[in-house]
Amino acid sequence: MATLKDEAIVLHAHDLGEADRIVSLITAGHGLRRAVVKGVKRTASRFGARLEPFTHLKVVLHEGRNLDTVTQADTVRTHAPLRTDYDKYLYGESMLELAERSLRENQNLPRFFDLLRVSLGVLEGEVRDCALLLAAYQLKACALIGYRPHLDRCLHGGRETSGGSWHLDLSEGGVTCQGCARTSPNVLHLNAQVLELLRRLLGTEMVAIARFDEPPHLALEALRASFAYTESVLEQRLRSRQIVLRHLEGKLRGTEAPLST
Ligand SMILES: [Zn+2]
Repeated sequence: MATLKDEAIVLHAHDLGEADRIVSLITAGHGLRRAVVKGVKRTASRFGARLEPFTHLKVVLHEGRNLDTVTQADTVRTHAPLRTDYDKYLYGESMLELAERSLRENQNLPRFFDLLRVSLGVLEGEVRDCALLLAAYQLKACALIGYRPHLDRCLHGGRETSGGSWHLDLSEGGVTCQGCARTSPNVLHLNAQVLELLRRLLGTEMVAIARFDEPPHLALEALRASFAYTESVLEQRLRSRQIVLRHLEGKLRGTEAPLST
């Protein structure tokens, strides 16, 4: 079996027995890989500690039939701030979860690796609103796997999206105007502001989104819509959806509470 040298980001890690650890990796050139790290708890293990979620590494993998073996790992970037700031940790974890769910094993999509690498880098820096960053990441991830949401005009009548009331039709992958909207549990109501925000998130680079500053309730609506869209594309629930949305709703309630004097 072959030996692979590549860059990778650790998506998930769990212990296997007393001594070993299994990691999920997204690599730059070899897709999603699952690999075992042997003897991770031995003090002599040189790189076991580096194989934590968020870490960006240069790895050497010995290819196996079901599972690769990590034979070397050097840190490129630890993304340590994502482990110490609870807010950022939640959003970062959600990014990792989506990467793991979006790609099939060994499906190679270098641009997805880049999207995650850049997004984690931006997230650990100065960000006005992490919720917007996560929503943008989700929309871009869907686009990369072939499900770019159609947000520019009504899917049916062709009317351009500006002003008024819109509907995001999850099963059709885009928006419809009020006149063309059908009633279905798969249709979300979107006001024009949220729709405009979603379009800007999809069309703007992650670095610039770090400076986006929108009213918090608008950011929450955008994130709700992008989570719903993403789950519908993946045809599965994301574990992080409830955790992130509840956290954000709680923070919003906190900021809206009247100040006591
Ligand atoms: Zn229409």
